[in-house]
Amino acid sequence: MEHINFLAFAMPAFFIFLFLEYKLAQRKKKPEIFNYESSVSNISIGIAERLINLFVAGSFYQLYFFIYDNYRFLDIPSNFFVWFALILATDFVWYWYHRLGHEVNFFWAAHIVHHHSEEFNFTAAARITTLQAVVRTGFWCVLPLVGFHPDMVITMLIVHGAYSFFTHTQLIGKIKWLEYVFVTPSIHGVHHASDEKYLDKNYGDMFTFWDRIFGTFQEEEEKPKYGLTHPLKSYSFLWQHTHYYFEIYELWKRSKGFKARWNAVFGSPAHMDQDIRPMLEKRFLQDKSNTHQRLRFRNYLYIQLGVCILFLTVFTYYFEFLNLLDKVFVLSFILITLINCGALLEQRKWMYYLEYGRIFIVTTYFLYEENLLTFLFVPIAIMIFAEQLFSLSKHYQKVVLQLESSE
Ligand SMILES: [Zn+2]
Ligand SMILES: [Zn+2]
Repeated sequence: MEHINFLAFAMPAFFIFLFLEYKLAQRKKKPEIFNYESSVSNISIGIAERLINLFVAGSFYQLYFFIYDNYRFLDIPSNFFVWFALILATDFVWYWYHRLGHEVNFFWAAHIVHHHSEEFNFTAAARITTLQAVVRTGFWCVLPLVGFHPDMVITMLIVHGAYSFFTHTQLIGKIKWLEYVFVTPSIHGVHHASDEKYLDKNYGDMFTFWDRIFGTFQEEEEKPKYGLTHPLKSYSFLWQHTHYYFEIYELWKRSKGFKARWNAVFGSPAHMDQDIRPMLEKRFLQDKSNTHQRLRFRNYLYIQLGVCILFLTVFTYYFEFLNLLDKVFVLSFILITLINCGALLEQRKWMYYLEYGRIFIVTTYFLYEENLLTFLFVPIAIMIFAEQLFSLSKHYQKVVLQLESSE
């Protein structure tokens, strides 16, 4: 049993809580808490992070052990008081990781994804990327360096992650007395707001006293408007992950001299040129079609997400038993499907090629498994003939994307 990954149970647990939140929101007559496109986008990003995490988490842990074994300052035992100190130390490191995540362009590029969501519910908690996990690991390394045992640090990672999941909801109101010490959903909601007085506030994850000490505490007064000051006008899976890196690169190209270039990468996001993003969106998202069209094939999207979630749960459970080929197959299948879901929300014409790509990956995998790779020309030929004879791409755009053929 030792190789079974119990993180697999986190996925069903997530959906149970999400379901409860959704039902409760309906009962409280607050259906606006959920938005279809935004929830799909948040969940897609969460799936990708959990998926890639399976491949990289091991190296994060190895890094903690490497630092602890070779460079630790102190020999800290593990007892009750040490656990208590570790919780405080972790949240202190978190405070600065999170604050710099908002104050330094390079870190903001990873953290901004968490803030794209204009909805504040459990799906926003899932909106974490692997790039953000990489940056976080860099900061987290301070803990084994000080001398906390990596096993303890890894346990804290899970505790911290679980706690912050529950602070992303609007169904729990203000709990004033708790806010003196703990971060509540109301306090973290303020952090997700784009209202002037709420900007750059409440960086703590579990405790509010770091914010109080460093002058960044703000309690909820008016109802927050959630999301970015300059919202991202795209649900594209790829664009959401990468847009801010492109923005930094563009600013860097425009900058003259060392200081200006340094600031392009390590300066404050508040000084980012606001004309850069629209310019890049024009360049990279040029085929954006009419978003007023309703999706006829929502069920198609649900099925795809459902398949991803099922695959990911089983994949996580059996990860250690699989060989490299299986792993690469599942990784590429799920990633293509997630890109597809994002493209479907925006009715992109090119997603048709993605469908072919996915069919190609699946057939190649099964032919390889059956030692029949020499017959790979068969599915390729079928795809080419089907396209030539039936113009599938036109039907696809008409039926699934509901685009006019004249476009
Ligand atoms: Zn943040
Ligand atoms: Zn958050």
